[in-house]
Amino acid sequence: MVNTYAQLLVRSTGQGNPEHQMFAQYIQSGVDRMRTLIKDLLSYSRVIHAPAFDFTDTDMNSVLAIAMANLEVSIQECRAVVAAEDLPPAYGDETQLAVVFQNLISNALKYCDKSPPRISVFGRTDGAVNVYGVRDNGVGIAPQYHEQIFGLFKRLHGREVPGSGIGLAVCKRIIDLHGGTIWVESTAGAGSTFYFELPRPELV
Ligand code: ADP
Repeated sequence: MVNTYAQLLVRSTGQGNPEHQMFAQYIQSGVDRMRTLIKDLLSYSRVIHAPAFDFTDTDMNSVLAIAMANLEVSIQECRAVVAAEDLPPAYGDETQLAVVFQNLISNALKYCDKSPPRISVFGRTDGAVNVYGVRDNGVGIAPQYHEQIFGLFKRLHGREVPGSGIGLAVCKRIIDLHGGTIWVESTAGAGSTFYFELPRPELV
């Protein structure tokens, strides 16, 4: 609504006035950032306050399929190539675990400077845990930021890439509540692999 009225104002008073057009663009990008922030904060508050998680035996291939379906348009727009291996099952909340894959894959698309973005999703059993990974060929992350990026509002990028620094904090909260761990392995310029491990369902 704010965007619409900013446009109408320019049309009625500032048609042809480049300064007014510029102000309208500022309003528009401010509103877009606010919208992203509210959406992300809502998603964070959902996992912070009394999370009513529904734990069941969960097929992680189906969980990944939900995330991929939600990201279908972005994947097509970026012409990304996403490869997925067969994933071991988990004991967890299907919807929340889909949010984890969705945030990780969405970041892999956002923080990519190569064409096409190449993303692979894989999983394996390792002792008492199942480990899942999302690898990208993007900009990578210098080692000194590997922990800090999971904090709330922590961003390594400016306004050139939309975001509010909440996505990875949400992932961490969800994985913590599943009794798991999440981390990243990466080198600046050489892509990133985000891992999370969850207790094997048969051992929960
Ligand atoms: P947002 O993407 O909204 O900024 P996130 O919490 O999802 O917030 O990510 C935090 C920061 O970590 C991002 O701003 C970005 O700098 C960095 N980051 C996350 N994922 C990746 C990735 N796959 N490749 C490179 N940098 C990443």
